[in-house]
Amino acid sequence: MNQRQDIFRNIPSVNELIESEEISKLTNIYPRQLVVDAIREVLDNIRQSIRNKRRSKVDNETSSQTADISPQSLCLLIQQEIQGKLSGIEHAINATGIILHTGLGRAPLTEEASRQLQNVTTSYCTLEIEKTSGSRAIRYHCIEQLICMLTCAESALVVNNNAAAVLLALDTLAKDKEVIISRSQLVEIGGEFRMPDVMQKSGAILVEVGTTNKTYLSDYSNAITERTGLILKVHQSNFKIVGFTDTVDLKDLVSLGQIHNIPVTYDLGSGALINLQKYGMPYEPTVQEAIKAGVDIVTFSTDKLLGGPQGGIIAGKKRWLDLLKKNPLTRALRVGKLTIAGLEATLKQYLEEDTAVKKIPVINMLLTPLNVIEDRCKRIINNINPKIMSMLDISIVDGFSEMGGGALPGERIPTRLISVYSKQLNAEELAMRLRTYTPPIFGRIEYGRILLDMRTVCDEEVKMIAAALEKISGFSGNCVI
Ligand SMILES: *Cc1c(COP(=O)(O)O)cnc(C)c1O
Repeated sequence: MNQRQDIFRNIPSVNELIESEEISKLTNIYPRQLVVDAIREVLDNIRQSIRNKRRSKVDNETSSQTADISPQSLCLLIQQEIQGKLSGIEHAINATGIILHTGLGRAPLTEEASRQLQNVTTSYCTLEIEKTSGSRAIRYHCIEQLICMLTCAESALVVNNNAAAVLLALDTLAKDKEVIISRSQLVEIGGEFRMPDVMQKSGAILVEVGTTNKTYLSDYSNAITERTGLILKVHQSNFKIVGFTDTVDLKDLVSLGQIHNIPVTYDLGSGALINLQKYGMPYEPTVQEAIKAGVDIVTFSTDKLLGGPQGGIIAGKKRWLDLLKKNPLTRALRVGKLTIAGLEATLKQYLEEDTAVKKIPVINMLLTPLNVIEDRCKRIINNINPKIMSMLDISIVDGFSEMGGGALPGERIPTRLISVYSKQLNAEELAMRLRTYTPPIFGRIEYGRILLDMRTVCDEEVKMIAAALEKISGFSGNCVI
């Protein structure tokens, strides 16, 4: 019992710690209150863990003495506690090879978009004002013109994301009405976004037609009643049905809708503005194609293949878009100036296709030739100390990247990767060390090795990865202040 109390007495107080040499340094970097709170939390945890250990041992022998309460160890714990509290969104290195990775923020922006964000956010900006008259204007004016120019749509609107775009279209055109959709298109997009749930939220009544693998035009026409509000087509953006299949051409759906005066909406998902087949990539439907087929409304994300900030575009016939714009939900789903600035700058790159291909990072990454990717791998290897190379067993291997983000599902894009293997540390431990490095590095694990895909890594990040690999192979739990 005495010994137990001694142990508790040995734990320094909050005051002692905050005055100590190591920890007082922390108050130069972080607000004092934050440090004090972190100290309290760390000390509480230590006391609790001693109590737990006591409880699990009948005899109160020396186990609790294993709690390391040296100033260095406490400093590290306190620092980790603070960093845990403060760690929010930060630069990360995507070495997963998944170009549109929702967990890693989807599309990185063009330099132009990022510069434009800086320009309009550190000062006032012309968000809703017309310069010549000085009168109030519509915030979507320029962006709508750009979308119409690029896609040949009559009218367009931008909302918070594509889920919001679908919701707004359904709420406006199909509330308490029936929406006809093929059973092969009841998609779950991820993040629990399921088409049927969104439809329900909007008050639309789902009418499923066809089967999982085959849906014919007659399935749609047989389902049309006076209660039908909308025909909806959803792009199978993240999966593929192969084999004995049949879907209805968008053009045929459009004709059917026209005969019955029912709008046809196409949820395109990724929203490609460039025909990727021209560049040797597999087919992915474009927005222009959908508009040309005569669809009434098309909805797509702006942070997927389009390569902009998070947003959703609704484009199509003026007649329907005018109704959407009047819906009070539009105000609730509206985007801010950051989105508008970033998206305008991104869309402007598409006015010249060659420029877009060069400058939009996601397209550029998709089309990066293998020799460039291999060069990045070689530069990493050349940058690593040979001693560490032998410790870690690092080599260049072949593999595949993926588009991700609901585009080019199932398509494997050949790539080169850095493979890292360690006899001392298992792949999970190595991956964890890379993830907790600054900046965090995300790769994938295959057959007990870490694979780092250089397709999604930019040139400036190559050196950082080399430095990280050197650092994580060391075994010191260094307290870096
Ligand atoms: C990604 C996707 C969505 C959701 O888009 P967000 O912009 O993430 O809201 C909806 N429908 C389809 C077909 C998609 O691929």
